[in-house]
Formats: sequence, C-alpha cells, structure tokens
Amino acid sequence: MSGAGETPVESHRATDSAPCELAHWIGGRPVRGGEPGVDVLDPATGAVVARAPLAVASEVDAAVDAAAAVQRGWGETSLARRAVVLFAFRELVNTNREELAATISREHGKVLGDARGEVARGLDAIEFACGIPHLLRGGATAQASTGIDLRDVRQPLGVVAGITPFNFPLMVPMWMHPLAIAAGNAFILKPSEQDPSVSMRVAELWRQAGLPDGLFNVLHGDADAAAALVDHRGVAAVSFVGSTPVARRVHEVGRITGKRVQALGGAKNHLVVLPDADLEQAADAAASAAYGSAGQRCMAVSVVVAVGEAATPLVAEIAARARAIRVGPWTDPEAEMGPVVSAAARDRIVRAIEGAVVAGADLVVDGRMSAAPADGGGFWVGPTLFDRVEPEQAIYAEEIFGPVLVVVRVAGFDAALELIRANPYGNGASIFTADGGAAREFESAVPAGAIGVNVPIPIPVSYHSFGGWKDSMFGEQGVYGDAGVSFYTRLKVITSRWPDSARRGVDLGFPASE
Ligand code: NAD
Repeated sequence: MSGAGETPVESHRATDSAPCELAHWIGGRPVRGGEPGVDVLDPATGAVVARAPLAVASEVDAAVDAAAAVQRGWGETSLARRAVVLFAFRELVNTNREELAATISREHGKVLGDARGEVARGLDAIEFACGIPHLLRGGATAQASTGIDLRDVRQPLGVVAGITPFNFPLMVPMWMHPLAIAAGNAFILKPSEQDPSVSMRVAELWRQAGLPDGLFNVLHGDADAAAALVDHRGVAAVSFVGSTPVARRVHEVGRITGKRVQALGGAKNHLVVLPDADLEQAADAAASAAYGSAGQRCMAVSVVVAVGEAATPLVAEIAARARAIRVGPWTDPEAEMGPVVSAAARDRIVRAIEGAVVAGADLVVDGRMSAAPADGGGFWVGPTLFDRVEPEQAIYAEEIFGPVLVVVRVAGFDAALELIRANPYGNGASIFTADGGAAREFESAVPAGAIGVNVPIPIPVSYHSFGGWKDSMFGEQGVYGDAGVSFYTRLKVITSRWPDSARRGVDLGFPASE
C-alpha cells in the first residue's frame, strides 16, 4: 500500500472552512492515498471543499486483504452479536442525521430537506438489516424420509463491493452495506468521486458502533478504481448503481470473472395522467417528482404522458408550479431546488434543452439561467418544461438526469401503454387516475420494477425489494428486502440422519442467545 498515514477524523466534516484531504478507509482507519486525487466541489458555488484520492491497484489489494482477514470470523459471529452492532449503528446514524444531511448537501447540492429525506431512507434500510436473525431464519423439514431431516442455512459470500452513484451518496450505499455486513460479509464501498465525504463519516459511525475493523472499507476513486474492484479475484460479489452503459459493463465483466453481480442502471420514468384524474394532484406530483433534487433521482419523473383532454389543462398546471419553484443553495432555508452536481452536468443538460428546441419541441418553461441565484458561481439549471415532445426526439429518448420534464400527448390509454412498453428503460412508472380498472391494467401491463398508482415516486420501503426491468437493471436480484438477503448469502441445504439423538446432561438455565 502506498503512502499510508492517519488523517484526523474531523477533516471529513461539513463544518470545515478549508478543503480537506480525504483518505481511504481501510482496516478501520483512514489511509492516505498515494496519488493526488480529484477536487470535490460545492455545486452551489463551484468552490473546492475536499480532495479525494484515486485508488490505485495496491490500495484496492490492501482493502480486499483487510476485508478478507476479518470476514470469516465475522461470518461465524452469532446473529445476536451482529444485531447489537447494527442497532448501535442505527442509533448513531439517527443521532448524527443533521450533520450527515449537511455533508450530503454540501457536495451534492440538494436542499437540506431533501438530504434529510435521504438519511431517513438510509435509516429505513439499516432498520431492515437489524432484523438479520429473523431474515436468516431458514426452512426445515422433519422426517422427509424415515429418520431424515432437512434444513436450509444461508451463509455469507465473503468480501463484497458496492460501487455507487453521486445522486444518493448515503442512501444508495445503505441499500447495500448494512444488509451485506449483517449477513456476515465484509464490505468495500467505492462511492462516487463527486460527493465522497459522507462515506467517511459513515465509516467512523460503523467503527463507533463496534463493527470490527476491516469489515467496512471505503476506497475513493473513479472508473479505474471501480473496474479494479469488479476485476478483483478476492471480491465475491458486486452491487452497482449508476448509469446504464456502466451498469451493463460492470455486469458483463463481473460475470466473466465469476462474481455475483446486481447492476442497477438509468431510467426514463413515465407518469401517465388520464382525463379522469385529479389534475391538480397530478400536477403537484409531476412537478415534485420531476424537479425534486433537480431531477437527479433514479425515480424522478422525466416524462408525463398526457392522455386526451387532460393535456392542455395539465401542462398549464405543471408550468405554474415549475415557475413558482424557489431555486437556491442548500444554505438557503427557503430553497426548494438546488443546483445540478457539476459544470459538466449543467452543460450537458443545457445542450439537451437547446437540441430539443431545434428539434421542434414546445419549450413552455425555460430553465436555462443567465445568472446563478447565489453569489459566486455554481452549476445552475432551473425547472424546465417541454410540451408536445415526440418519442423520436432526443429529449425523450435519452436520460437527461436534470430538472427537465417533457410532456408527450397521446390519444388514449392504449397509446400510453404502448409508449412505455417501447421505451428501453423499466425502472418505474406511475398512473394518475380515478379508474380502478385502468390502474389495475397498468399495474399488470407495464414492464417496470416499481409501479405507482396515484403515487409519483414509487420507490419501495426496505422490506420490499427494488430493481428495474429492461435496461434499468442487469442481474437477477434487486436490492434490499428479500432480494437483498438472497443476493448477499448463499443457500445451503443440510440433510441429516441421527440414529441416536438423545441429549445428555442436566441444564436448568433459561436459554439465551449469545
Ligand atoms: P455513473 O454511472 O457515472 O457512476 C456511478 C459509479 O460508477 C461511480 O462510482 C463511478 O465512479 C463509477 N464508474 C464510472 N465509470 C465506471 C466504469 N467504466 N466502470 C466501473 N465503474 C465506473 O453514474 P452517476 O452519474 O454517478 O449517477 C447517475 C446515474 O445513476 C443515472 O443514470 C441514474 O439513473 C442512475 N441511478 C440509478 C439508480 C437505480 O436505482 N436504478 C439509483 C440511483 C442512480
């Protein structure tokens, strides 16, 4: 490992006034990277708030070795003891939720209320993992044949890795590591290089919770560090969340190198509004789900499919809401929407808006901003609304991942279904209607992993599982819930016969878990 050294834990905190030098977190301590890293920016100002190292092969090896050294012992640790650590971790995340939210906002740009929601959904995932003794309870069959019993046990995989996107720097990793660790694995997180600091606080909280050193590791870096993990022979499984081209590649390479891989990709989520819907409620939902977090959510609504006579009044209602959204930095308590994550993201989104105008889409609300709403730069795009978009236009066909909502007008319900079926993505889709029959048909006919009925962002709670269809997920098993338990464990079925199973010895004690 190159350049190992201690970094004070305070350096990862959002209250820092000077940029901090982030370290990797390997074997329960900060380890300075050997190479100069990347600047981490506050998207609201463009100022450098941290510098993160880019892991090289020797550092990836060091993290895998540190994880492997302790994983077996942890996998043999009783479920009761593991649950104690999980509960302590849950309490620490809860106690530190404000600081975690501020750390997210400062590097992602999302407003504080949104970051608090992210922490709450992270807690939801930890709480699910706290139930690990119950979750790993297997099935048993007595007397399957004369004197023969069978039982299922689920065993950990070993060292598992998570590679995560910028848009939920705390929650998406928490879809992975609490459950993976609870199930007896050691975990290596490669967070997004765009907002990596919160992962260091999470590492400190795991340590404070009593997790043995080496079971949770953070390797900073870009595509190279991620690719080295996907390639590594010591890694048994990879959970990836990010854009579709990378998800597809990670899945292919991971499978070739013999790993279990779940790779969640991008999205183009449709919200269908039928003429019988409450149009004000539908407009509220569309504006909230399209512009929340500046549209940088995998479950953001990016397409409204307006059916028949719903279209004209609906577009007017959405436009009024889009114009009223207060855009500003996370430090402004009144701000409802922050900047996008980077200059590159802003430029890409502005180019997409310009392209749609040239292609003939009707620009109803123009979010291209001539000046930042805050002093001193930053990466700003305001809420943008297009009407009368055609499916062939790039603004519909591509994932924009910004505050841009397009309305496609269709004549009837069947045309709306056809549009969604033809789209290559299948993360989520919603319908707003008062017609139970139409909603029921929508639930059944739409090829997507999460369906909302009069709910715009149908991301399931942690005791259900989540994962898209089609180009929104590669691999068979979704994250968290039963699918997550299954992903992070391997099933073993034990068949046994005991000619003499009589117990010996007297023990009057009340049995307790240890
Ligand atoms: P991204 O694909 O650019 O990066 C995701 C992660 O992959 C980062 O950690 C990055 O460093 C790493 N990476 C980049 N190139 C790589 C490569 N060639 N090999 C291996 N790893 C590589 O995505 P992003 O811009 O950080 O996040 C936004 C994307 O994530 C959007 O497409 C969004 O829809 C998607 N997303 C999906 C879900 C979901 O649940 N399906 C959830 C959140 C985000």
